[in-house]
Amino acid sequence: MPKLTNYMERIVKEELARVMLSRPGICSCRVCQLDVMALALNQLPPQYVVSEGGHIHTMVNMAHDQFKTQVLVAIVNAINSVSTHPRHKLKKGLNTLTRH
Ligand SMILES: [Zn+2]
Repeated sequence: MPKLTNYMERIVKEELARVMLSRPGICSCRVCQLDVMALALNQLPPQYVVSEGGHIHTMVNMAHDQFKTQVLVAIVNAINSVSTHPRHKLKKGLNTLTRH
């Protein structure tokens, strides 16, 4: 069945995984990851494409690199706000975010 996918969401997911690996200081729990994704995606223009079985029909690949740059900026902004105001409580006495 063909379905509608926000291509931006795909790029954000890919890049987020990479950014999180390169920044061990940030919390990588599911709550924080989803918060970062939501904040990042809200800053970005959606790019809807039709996909079927993981294959994208619409030709958006040419713009991929251009999207990537915007996505990285949005992710870094989102990470900054999430790590300043995480939704879950931090353990007392710790200044840095911990995995939980
Ligand atoms: Zn967290």
